[in-house]
Amino acid sequence: MPDHEIQKEIRLIGTGASPGICIGKAYLVDKEGIDIVEKYFISRKNLDSEIKRFKMAVKNAADELRAIIENAPEDVRRHTGILETHVALLKDKMLYDKTIETIKNERVNAEWALKKVVTGIKMLFHDISDSYLKARSDDITHVSDRIMRFLIGTEEINIGNIDKRVILVAKDLSPADTSQIQLDKVMGFLTDRGGKASHTSIIARTLEVPAVLGLGNATQIINNDDRIIIDGATGIVILNATDQTLSEYKELKARFEERKAFLSRGSHLKAETLDGLSLQIMGNIELPEEVVSVLDHGGDGIGLYRTEFQYLSRNEFPGEDELFDKYKDVVEVMGRRPVTIRTLDINGDKAIANSNGSDEANPALGLRAIRYCLKKPDIFRTQLRAILRAAAFGNVRILIPMISSLDEIRDTKRLLNEAANSLEKEGKAYNKNIEFGIMIEVPSAVILADVMAQEVDFFSIGTNDLIQYTLAIDRGNREVAHLYHPFHPAILRMIKHVTDVGKEKGIKVYMCGEMAGDPFNVPVLLGLGIDELSMNPQSIPAVKNMIRSLKVEDARRFIMEALKQTTTMDAIKLVEASFGEMIGQ
Ligand code: PEP
Ligand code: MG
Repeated sequence: MPDHEIQKEIRLIGTGASPGICIGKAYLVDKEGIDIVEKYFISRKNLDSEIKRFKMAVKNAADELRAIIENAPEDVRRHTGILETHVALLKDKMLYDKTIETIKNERVNAEWALKKVVTGIKMLFHDISDSYLKARSDDITHVSDRIMRFLIGTEEINIGNIDKRVILVAKDLSPADTSQIQLDKVMGFLTDRGGKASHTSIIARTLEVPAVLGLGNATQIINNDDRIIIDGATGIVILNATDQTLSEYKELKARFEERKAFLSRGSHLKAETLDGLSLQIMGNIELPEEVVSVLDHGGDGIGLYRTEFQYLSRNEFPGEDELFDKYKDVVEVMGRRPVTIRTLDINGDKAIANSNGSDEANPALGLRAIRYCLKKPDIFRTQLRAILRAAAFGNVRILIPMISSLDEIRDTKRLLNEAANSLEKEGKAYNKNIEFGIMIEVPSAVILADVMAQEVDFFSIGTNDLIQYTLAIDRGNREVAHLYHPFHPAILRMIKHVTDVGKEKGIKVYMCGEMAGDPFNVPVLLGLGIDELSMNPQSIPAVKNMIRSLKVEDARRFIMEALKQTTTMDAIKLVEASFGEMIGQ
């Protein structure tokens, strides 16, 4: 293109995976080669050596991952559990044994067999709507890509060796790739694939590097050395920015950094309103290792420990001792602070490797969470025993997901009692005097809140699912994402109903859905009377700061007005008009 021709500014929109703004030159990380695989037949006499070639590629991949784990920088060391899972996945029956079988049975080359097996596994994940579980399919991709590279003989992207200040642009980055990022070289990254719940984005947030994932075809549009802007909060990536856009983003970047520094100075202060109401601000975790991040950001405890991760990407269900060890680690690190362990919230059998894999047309409405656990009492009992045992070491609460009827609460309590009795008989240390709570995330639980309140110690509102199930909006579907908002009048009224019931029945009402982690929502949440908020650890400082700048008395008056609004947009505008200045501070 001639020099004098002005290139048009291009804006790409993906998923904002880790907040922050960076402006710099693109550095394309090339993984070409592994996506294009040739098929050829292997003669009977060469089958053994083809299998050996596959096994050698797996061994090399494992050695390489182990070396990465050993050399991981301090900051990411607590995430190397993910990489260890990848080492284990290399030998996963679904992947390893199946590929060998395919080479043998179909007499095809190892690359083709691996690709076929991986495509099959990914189809299993395809129908799952839960974004967290969907992201586990990325783990399979990362692991198989690594094997494929050794089979084909392409070079590993060596992110650790990059020696200039750049923004990485890649089709995909595995958690292992991401963990090698040198913060003084890589300003941020963007990828074609991936989503917010992927481990890659968890690591990006831990490293606090701006990242946008799931851009689709950014690698085809962006060239090496193009100047790009990444806004990791909004998911916007800008190419060929005009001078005006550039100066706007420089300004935004400076403001973001100033604000971050300001917030982190106050992150350990109490979340107390100007008129003296103190709230506990807790962190959500998915991996035991993230507990450190909650403390670093000033969290008062764990409000949601999603325990699914230990059940995924493996052939065997975890045993009681393994679960107990992980829970105990978290509980011990938190000391007297509460740790809310949520029981298994799995979205349909398919997600678990060794289950029967029944095909559900609507997994989000299917055998998910407590429904799964009550149908598989042996699996549930193992987890309940592990939780009760860990409770002997600190301040544990138990939280049951996706409750939609009273029977589910009673059945769960019966199993919990049985678990305690069996531990008693075996003379094992445990503690059954723990708070028992349920997630309020299905509309029937809102309507029956008064009945359910009599059976439990606390409610925790899961807005992610409550919005999905109430408004009939698939939370992972981009087509209807514009309709998904916590300020929908039906959602605000439902939350108000739940907090009113909580007060009347004398039980606490917490919130651990994403709604809790946005400072913009804080005036509404304070007005609604939520007793405790739990969120991703990075949001804690901003939410605490917002609470410190408000009066609960004002928020209570305000919510009466907010509840009169009949559309989402009216409610948003009212918050902007009443608290806009504070939110923008
Ligand atoms: C929720 O639904 O709001 C919630 C916190 O649970 P999850 O996101 O794990 O479904
Ligand atoms: Mg949920």
